[in-house]
Amino acid sequence: MSTIPACPQCGMENTYPDGSQFVCADCGHEWSALAAVSSEDNAARIVRDANGNLLSDGDAVVLVKDLKVKGSSTTLKQGTKIKSIRIVDGDHEVDCKMDGGSFMLKACYLKKA
Ligand SMILES: [Zn+2]
Repeated sequence: MSTIPACPQCGMENTYPDGSQFVCADCGHEWSALAAVSSEDNAARIVRDANGNLLSDGDAVVLVKDLKVKGSSTTLKQGTKIKSIRIVDGDHEVDCKMDGGSFMLKACYLKKA
């Protein structure tokens, strides 16, 4: 968090943080600091499914094996379809929302639907 990105609107570097946002002093554009950080990470991050296909935000995937959810008695069944995934940082690269809640999954247990 040491560098502040240039304004995505006008490209000027005269920007400053304001809470969880950045503000551009030149054009007045405001944008979310969190979104800026995660979209940069996504650009650099390459996540592949069990078949080696690239996964990206919004992809639909299917579980290729039963997965026990850590810290709960829930098991996500093989063949479960997940509509819209989100690629995130960390050991479990895929963030998704299902009926049972929000889960972090490993891309190697998924395949693109
Ligand atoms: Zn600007």
